[in-house]
This record gives sequence, C-alpha cells and structure tokens, in this order.
Amino acid sequence: MTETEIPEDHPRYASLVTRHRIEAGVERGITSKQGLIAQGRGEAFDYLLGERTLPSADDAARAAAATLLLADRPVISVNGNVAALAPAETVDLAEAVDADLEVNLFNHTDERVRRIADHLRDHGAAEVKGLAGDGEISGLDHARGVVDADGIEAADVVVVPLEDGDRAAALDAMGKTEIVIDLNPGSRSPRTADVPILDNLLRAVPNVTEHARDLADATPAELKRVVDEFDADAALDAAEAAIREGSFADRDADAE
Ligand code: ATP
Repeated sequence: MTETEIPEDHPRYASLVTRHRIEAGVERGITSKQGLIAQGRGEAFDYLLGERTLPSADDAARAAAATLLLADRPVISVNGNVAALAPAETVDLAEAVDADLEVNLFNHTDERVRRIADHLRDHGAAEVKGLAGDGEISGLDHARGVVDADGIEAADVVVVPLEDGDRAAALDAMGKTEIVIDLNPGSRSPRTADVPILDNLLRAVPNVTEHARDLADATPAELKRVVDEFDADAALDAAEAAIREGSFADRDADAE
C-alpha cells in the first residue's frame, strides 16, 4: 500500500502513514534498519500518550521557538528517521528560525549523509551541512562524534530530534543549549535537554514552526520571558503522568 492509498478515515491513519514513510526511507537508503526499531519504540509511547500534543508539550514547543529565535547560531540536526518522516516540515522550521540544517547520523556513512542531504534539497533546503565532517563532538569516539566545524560544533543552540542519550550528554557537556524531541520521558536525551518536547516529531516540528511565526515580532525580552517561564522538569513529569495515569477508556471517549 502506498501512502496515498491509506484511507484518511482509517482509525490508525497517522500511525500507518508514519510506518510507511519509515519503510520507504529504509528502501531509499535514507533510514537505517535501527531506525525501524526507534520508530517502533516511539509508536508505543505515542499510543500511551494518546497520540496528542499535551499542553505541556505545546509550552515546550513555544519555548523551543523562542530559544531558536534568540540563538546566534542555531542548527537542526537531521538523522535518517527525521528525514524520512518530516523532511518538508524540518526545512520549514529551519527557514522560520533561520537555522542551519546538518545531517548527523548515529550510524554514519558518507553515502547515507549524501542521500539525506539530497532528500532535504528535494524538499526545498537551500544548504545542507554534514558532509564536511571536519569537526567533532568531544568525548565520543570518532565515528559517533563527527560533525561539521561550522555547523553543530560551532552552534549555540541545537535541535536534536530522536537523539541517542550519549550524544545528547556529550553535546550538553560542550555547553550547547539542546532542544530534544522525543516521545519517551524516560530516555536520557529528553532528560538532558534544556527544552524537552515530549511529542511525536510529526506534530512537534510544525508546532515549533507555528510558534516561531507567532513570535516573529516579539522583542528579545519577550522571548526570554517565554524561555524563562518554561519548566523542563514539569514537562517531563507531565508526560510521565499522562502515560502512567491515562486510561484507554478516556481515549475512546475522546475519539467519539
Ligand atoms: P536514550 O539513549 O536517550 O536513553 P533510547 O535508547 O531510549 O534513548 P533510542 O532507541 O536510541 O532511544 O531512540 C529512539 C527514541 O526515539 C525513543 O525514545 C523513541 O521514543 C523516540 N522516537 C521514535 N520515533 C519518534 C517520533 N516519531 N517522534 C518522537 N520521538 C520518537
């Protein structure tokens, strides 16, 4: 079944589209096979969250937008799952906050970086970093730490959707302000982030863009207030509470 053949009124539509995009990403050499496992894990957490954006995740998206608008050198890190799931949305976000896009892979191969960069260009990206590989994230072995010197290495704010915990910790140790998008409030990466967005990438990326457009005319003082008012621990707690205390009966009622 292709994406366009999935009926939009199917009760599992969003989940089927997501699976299809990841599968197509693997077939095109954009997404790694490990990406399928990450997807499965994400899908389970999204199911438990009720496949909705929690108010706390919306606050996080607004804080992320303000953080990006205040940044001097913001970079959005793109891996194989991000490229397969939301290429156009990620390019839109980069444009809205004037950030660089950098392909950065856990299982790095030049070939896959090139394919992802081409895929992003096909979706409107003007420039994509990640091929120079002349910088590093200190504290990691070379294969996992390679980045561009004028990209992630020089960035003050990095958006790392679906990032591995070790790399999130290493970026934090380098003093980067991190915005992490991840559905699992127990994962190390959102727990390391300055701004953890506990939401599905497919909902979170366009939501941050929308907030950025809404905040486009805000003064630096107003943006700073949005950032200061955000509470990362409260956002993690709210997502955990929604997962642990939610009930399938409530969800059925919401859907009616
Ligand atoms: P960590 O090393 O941070 O503890 P982990 O081992 O729990 O991470 P990985 O398997 O490395 O996690 O990466 C998968 C992560 O990506 C999971 O936390 C999963 O919830 C998340 N994820 C997968 N798909 C999505 C998606 N579409 N939107 C948001 N998060 C997602």
